[in-house]
Amino acid sequence: MSDDQHIAAPLRLFNSLTRTIEPFVPIEPGHARIYSCGPTVYNYAHLGNLRAYVFTDTLRRTLLWKALAVTHVINITDVGHLTSDADAGDDKMEAAARASAKSIWDIAAHYTTAFKQNIADLNIIAPSEWTVATDYVPQMIAFAEKIAPDHCYELESGLYFDSASVPDYGALAGGRDDAAHARIDPVAGKRNASDFAIWRKSPPDEQRQMEWDSPWGKGAPGWHLECSVMSQARLGHPFDIHTGGIDHREIHHPNEIAQNQAFHACCGSDVGAAEAGFTGARWWMHNNFLVDRSGKMSKSKGSFTTLFSLIDAGVHPLAYRLLCLGAHYRSELEFSAEGVAATLTRLKRLVMGIDNLKTRAEGVTWQSPRIDYLRANLHPKLTPLLEQFDAAMADDLMTPRALPLLEEVVAMKKVPVDERLCLLAAFDTALGLNLLTLTRADLRLRPKDAQITADEIEAELDRRTAARADKDFALSDAIRDALIARGVEVMDGDPLRWDWRLTLA
Ligand code: AMP
Ligand code: ZN
Repeated sequence: MSDDQHIAAPLRLFNSLTRTIEPFVPIEPGHARIYSCGPTVYNYAHLGNLRAYVFTDTLRRTLLWKALAVTHVINITDVGHLTSDADAGDDKMEAAARASAKSIWDIAAHYTTAFKQNIADLNIIAPSEWTVATDYVPQMIAFAEKIAPDHCYELESGLYFDSASVPDYGALAGGRDDAAHARIDPVAGKRNASDFAIWRKSPPDEQRQMEWDSPWGKGAPGWHLECSVMSQARLGHPFDIHTGGIDHREIHHPNEIAQNQAFHACCGSDVGAAEAGFTGARWWMHNNFLVDRSGKMSKSKGSFTTLFSLIDAGVHPLAYRLLCLGAHYRSELEFSAEGVAATLTRLKRLVMGIDNLKTRAEGVTWQSPRIDYLRANLHPKLTPLLEQFDAAMADDLMTPRALPLLEEVVAMKKVPVDERLCLLAAFDTALGLNLLTLTRADLRLRPKDAQITADEIEAELDRRTAARADKDFALSDAIRDALIARGVEVMDGDPLRWDWRLTLA
């Protein structure tokens, strides 16, 4: 069978550059290269940040499902980055270090470890490489030196990129929006409101914890520079796909593109050097926001929900992953305690349904073979479901259309259980929910501040069953009310025998 035959539905992805869904063809046949803007490690990632990485992981897994090899780079921004897209104001990393009286390096190490823990808890495949910004400062300086003569000018506060020096600045954002730039960036002396810092000089009266010597004086690189330099260093320009949250479509990514164009114009020798409309990456893809009732979740707002706090409340992290997959990545998704509780229930039902199939399969081993093998060997009743799943994922990662197929396979009649398990395992390679290994016990996380243990609950429920058998309904009600008061919901007659759960805070 040729490689093309097993790729049933051609993969099509939305490209923010053209604002259309386009067939995805990697530059190097059979191999996709992706760069994802990573976290700024001055605080814990909030659930909104993590939505961005569930999205890139779904992208990566779908490319793998389509039998492509993938090289994926995620960066760690451990230097600079101001409290907005601006060039002036407080530096997030330095401010966090001052607030906690810790060294900036300790802060970065602490939040990097926490972020990697979140990634593992969400079953996100670790990138082929984490690139750390502070490891690339000499390359950033070299890059800036090359583009400076034709594209930059110096002010007292740093070296600035002249956004009028490249064609179509801001095309990714849908055109240049000087008013928006003027709002965020009040640096005096800039030629255009949308010009941005390539190098930020340390203020003369202040010693930064992180600063380097450069031809423009002591200072630190501008945030946009790091992604241009690291993506070029690790993947070469142009590479296939650059990802980030939709906020990056407006400023960070247009600035990266401008830098890439400037470098390409002066020194480009990479593949595609003669390419018109060079932007550094062929596809720019953006996930939409996770919002809560008060608006977009953001670290700089101060209060936010982390994956750690969700786990502490007794929610399994993969329930959050399922919540993300339940919405298309380009739609806004509202986070609420009720919403995540409902997805936790959905995950429990799936896991118990699959558990039941596993019991009936009695030791038959199943695996997740490649889609071409599946298509040739699958039970005829399952083949349409495989086709529908493939078509949904190939259609710009339409996970909300793919998910109900899981429940359909679990419930399917008159098809051998091992065949169904095999198909579920294959689906899960693209969805990453660990459906074949999660157990009922895994999903019953104990909230950190729970006042009661599972054994105590079971003992109380046994006492209640006995009271009901004795027709002592007053006692039975009293036991239930006491459990409710301690945060335990009693679910009489639950079809999955999940007879209690702890209520979410
Ligand atoms: P940061 O650590 O702020 O640089 O953000 C890391 C990633 O999270 C970036 O790709 C952001 O665009 C993305 N992001 C930030 N806030 C949200 C949100 N509320 N929902 C989804 N993605 C977000
Ligand atoms: Zn970036």
